[in-house]
Amino acid sequence: MKQLTKIFKTFNFDKEAQEQNEMILDMVYELAMNEIIEKEQDWDEEGAHFDPSTKKVSYPSGMMDLYKKCQQNDLFSIIVPEKYDGFGLSYTLWNAVIELMARASLAFSMFFPSQGLNIEIINNFGTPEAKEKYLPLLASGDAIGAMAFSEPNAGSDISAVTTKAEKEGDSYYLTGNKIWLSHGGAAGTYITFAVTDKTAGPKGLSAFIVDPKIAGSNMEVVGIEHKMGLHGSITSSMSLDRAEVPKENLLGKENDGFRLILGSLASSRIGIAAQAVGISETALQESINYSLQRSQFGRPIGKHQAISFMLADMATRVHQSRLLYLNTAQMKHVGANTQIESSMAKYWATEMAQKVTYDAVQIHGGYGYSQDYAVSRLFRDARVLTIYEGTSEMQKTIISRGALSRAQK
Ligand SMILES: Cc1cc2nc3c(=O)[nH]c(=O)nc-3n(C[C@H](O)[C@H](O)[C@H](O)COP(=O)(O)OP(=O)(O)OC[C@H]3O[C@@H](n4cnc5c(N)ncnc54)[C@H](O)[C@@H]3O)c2cc1C
Repeated sequence: MKQLTKIFKTFNFDKEAQEQNEMILDMVYELAMNEIIEKEQDWDEEGAHFDPSTKKVSYPSGMMDLYKKCQQNDLFSIIVPEKYDGFGLSYTLWNAVIELMARASLAFSMFFPSQGLNIEIINNFGTPEAKEKYLPLLASGDAIGAMAFSEPNAGSDISAVTTKAEKEGDSYYLTGNKIWLSHGGAAGTYITFAVTDKTAGPKGLSAFIVDPKIAGSNMEVVGIEHKMGLHGSITSSMSLDRAEVPKENLLGKENDGFRLILGSLASSRIGIAAQAVGISETALQESINYSLQRSQFGRPIGKHQAISFMLADMATRVHQSRLLYLNTAQMKHVGANTQIESSMAKYWATEMAQKVTYDAVQIHGGYGYSQDYAVSRLFRDARVLTIYEGTSEMQKTIISRGALSRAQK
């Protein structure tokens, strides 16, 4: 924690809020490392639930009690403007909070990046009615924010969505199938895309806020994924069958949804980089502790150069990725376009997490392969980081296009 606060200070130019920022980070650290981390193993074993008869989903036992603690401590209001019941604080702080949450539990930290993206998109592109209605709900955490982009045939190529939106009177009616929805069935707002002009390709897509209270039974969970890791987090598929979306819930202009969402993803990608740093920091700390306590050939394994050099590499990688995400968040805080830097941070930090969690298992030897040791879970959980919010290959595509276009200027 000391390391994060020390570095955070060097990035935090929001001097007026310095004291408040540090108070929030201390509080989050206590919550994450004293309460959330203790539950993580049980959540991993229990997993999320889906009841096919009621079509209801639920998080593992005790997760929502800790979610309520985050609500009581106003954690979801950090980046919400004051006008909508938020604190209007920096993206730097928001992402440092995500890192701390992911240190305790990657599954629990899943509540944060998608909340941030919902807040940002609604604040930037929502109608005045949508802002008034949804931003306070997202700030208090009474609504969990979800993103419903992926479809069976639209993954990396999200412009290939086939969900259609038909306008009738003052509403749109959405029909289609969405998959891989984090918090699907539990969320209060879903940012989604649908085809409003099927002759125009990506320029015929519009973005909407789907409100399950309005959509009712025309939007339902079909099932949940049984994943390699991240068991505590709900990942659903959902069907929309003429789900109503009032025109006030259109984001930006009709047929401008693709540009709008693609631009906004840069922001949540910083959060995924922060998640990667969080889980890697824990893998590093577990490895340091184990290498001091486990002896072979008459001395702690950490005193063997091969292991100590592995720890040196891990510590350096985590530090480097932390600098990368904090710097990108700070750029965003001062209003710079971070499209390319966000992809760099996401790509670099999530690939780093693969190496660090892999080495953590290696340092633990056979015990690292046992479910009884946290590192085996960290290794499984971290695997998703290079896939969701755009795969590493898609990030490299964005970075290389950006580098080429900058070189031409
Ligand atoms: C746990 C979890 C949670 C998720 N949560 C959400 C969520 O909340 N909301 C949501 O909308 N989605 C979510 N997703 C979906 C996720 O964003 C997609 O899985 C991801 O974008 C990749 O799409 P895909 O799985 O269809 O893979 P594909 O697009 O089929 O890709 C398969 C492989 O091909 C590569 N590839 C594809 N196109 C190219 C190309 N042009 N050049 C080079 N390589 C390429 C990819 O990099 C990948 O290696 C989640 C996924 C998981 C696993």
